[in-house]
Amino acid sequence: MSDYDTFDGRFGSLMIGSAAIERLWTGGRWTEGPVYVPAAKAVIWSDIPEDRVMRYDETNGAVSVFEYPCGYHNGHTLDAYGRVVACEHGGRRVSRLGFDGRWETIVDRFDGKRLNSPNDVAVKSDGSIWFSDPSYGIDSDYEGHAAKSEIGACNVYRHDPQTGETTAVVTSLDRPNGLAFSPDERILYVSNTSLSETPAIHAFRVTEDGRTVGGGRVFAVSDNGVFDGFRIDRAGNIWTSSGDGVRVYAADGTLLGRINIPESVSNLCFGGRKRNRLYITATSSLYAVYVHANPAERPMTCQEMTSQPGNW
Ligand code: MG
Repeated sequence: MSDYDTFDGRFGSLMIGSAAIERLWTGGRWTEGPVYVPAAKAVIWSDIPEDRVMRYDETNGAVSVFEYPCGYHNGHTLDAYGRVVACEHGGRRVSRLGFDGRWETIVDRFDGKRLNSPNDVAVKSDGSIWFSDPSYGIDSDYEGHAAKSEIGACNVYRHDPQTGETTAVVTSLDRPNGLAFSPDERILYVSNTSLSETPAIHAFRVTEDGRTVGGGRVFAVSDNGVFDGFRIDRAGNIWTSSGDGVRVYAADGTLLGRINIPESVSNLCFGGRKRNRLYITATSSLYAVYVHANPAERPMTCQEMTSQPGNW
C-alpha cells in the first residue's frame, strides 16, 4: 500500500514526500478524540471501550495512561485558554479540565433532560461550545452505560458559557458526529455517521449573529465507511477520517487526496511544535505524519489572555 493517493494536483503541496507515516502506539480497542496539548508537549486521545485517556509524550515518545477510569471520554478539543474540553459518554456531559486539574461540567442537560452521550466538540472564537450528541454511549454498555435517551433525538448544540444557555442548532441529522468551523467561522461542517442515512459531511451556513446555523447542504459523501471526526486547516481544507485513511477535501468540495492508513480512521488533530504534525486515531492505534498544513484554530497567547480575560 502506498502512503498517499493523489486525486487533485493541489494535494502535492500539502504532503511532504519524504515524511513517513508512523504508527506510534497500538493496543487500544477503539481510539478516538485526539487533541494536542501544547503546554504539555503531548497529544492525548480516548480509548473509549477501555474507559481511558492515553497520552503520547512528544519529547521522548513514551505512551502512558492519562486518566483511568475517565467516564468513557470521546472527542476532545482545547478552549481559547488552552484547557482540554472533553465529551464524556459515561457522565453524559461536556467537561473541561480546569487549571486545578479537576474535570468540571460545562453542560450535561438540554431543556431539563440529560444529554445522550456527547461525541465531538468545537469551541468557537466567541467562547461558545458546539457539540454533537448522538446515542453511541448509551446504546450499549460497550462505550458507556446503556440507557434510554431522555431527549429522544440526536442533535448538535451550542452552549453559551456566559449565559448558561444551550440551544439545538442542527436537528436534521440522524447521528451527528464530527464537527468543525471553517477558518472564517461562516460554515459549520458536521458529519453524519448514521447507517440508515448516506454517510456524509454536511455544511451549514452560520447565521450573521454567529449563534445558530441554516441552509444545510451535503458537502462530501463517503464511499468507504463513514466520516467520523475531522479538522480544518488554515486554508480551509477539510482533513477527515474515513474507512480507508485520512481524506483531504478542498473547501470547494474537491477530494484532493488520501493518506492511506491500514485501520479504519476515527479522528485526527494537528499537533507538534509547529502544529504541522497530523495525529490520527485509527481503531486500535495512534499514527502520525508531518504535513504542509496548520490548523485554523489556536489557543490564545499569554499576552492575549491578559488583555482580554473573558470568561474563565
Ligand atoms: Mg466521533
